[in-house]
Amino acid sequence: RGKRAFIAGVADDNGYGWAIAKSLAAAGAEILIGTWVPALNIFESSLRRGKFDESRKLPDGSLMEITKVYPLDAVFDSLDDVPEDVKTNKRYAGSSNWTVQEVAESVKQDFGSIDILVHSLANGPEVTKPLLETSRKGYLAAISASSYSFVSLLKHFLPIMNPGGASISLTYIASERIIPGYGGGMSSAKASLESDTRVLAFEAGRKHKIRVNTISAGPLGSRAAKAIGFIDMMINYSLANAPLQKELHAEEVGNAAAFLVSPLASAITGAVVYVDNGLNAMGVGV
Ligand code: NAD
Repeated sequence: RGKRAFIAGVADDNGYGWAIAKSLAAAGAEILIGTWVPALNIFESSLRRGKFDESRKLPDGSLMEITKVYPLDAVFDSLDDVPEDVKTNKRYAGSSNWTVQEVAESVKQDFGSIDILVHSLANGPEVTKPLLETSRKGYLAAISASSYSFVSLLKHFLPIMNPGGASISLTYIASERIIPGYGGGMSSAKASLESDTRVLAFEAGRKHKIRVNTISAGPLGSRAAKAIGFIDMMINYSLANAPLQKELHAEEVGNAAAFLVSPLASAITGAVVYVDNGLNAMGVGV
């Protein structure tokens, strides 16, 4: 049978999560999606109304099928963690079973197992603030949504992942080089995500024969990136300075992800793989 993938962090057709879903679908995988609760209604109604039909098109002309969309808020592990104001918030009250543990349980009930886990989500409420001006709360929120969310997803999905399966997340070079403007503790969160990729590769590899890698992606004008405010500058910087002076297409990251979670990459785990037109390799701007 084909592989089954759960992709956390898709709420429109602009981001890396959508592109990864498409590459996996093109390779024959069944697609399950986890969408942030507050974005769920718009995403589902847009899907239903055919707003994404053009971008659902796969290389063979067919349309990507999404088998099921699950509401998800990856900053909450179980119902016990959800504060009252969120429970009663009207954007959340309309959905249920959206904590990480509950989503994993729902997927298990619906499908039994998965082969591929994709983490394509991040959030840093103070991302536009320099690190020196970031509050403890903002910093911890960035880590919670952008790093621990991966630990939690992997922890809860591992028991239903078939041995030989793989997970992938998305990181950014601000973890290891100074990128002014990527603030609010988001650079710290990406450093955690990359370090955790190594430790989790060991633990999930030994325990469940699951591979864990992360893609350090170049700049893309996604919804999340536009919220940071400097994305056009980063795209132009890459165009001017990267070894490959071309636009970076989300599809290129999608294809790299499809490779990394496939048997073609069966000996690759614990790796940070750059998909950035080579910009990471430059020492100076030229
Ligand atoms: P995106 O907006 O398509 O994806 C981010 C998603 O995270 C959104 O769908 C949002 O709803 C979701 N999300 C936020 N908080 C959540 C939560 N608590 N629970 C569940 N979902 C939540 O933007 P993107 O840029 O494609 O981001 C995907 C990944 O790629 C992120 O990890 C991002 O840091 C990484 N990345 C992006 C760039 C870039 O330039 N866009 C570069 C390198 C890495």
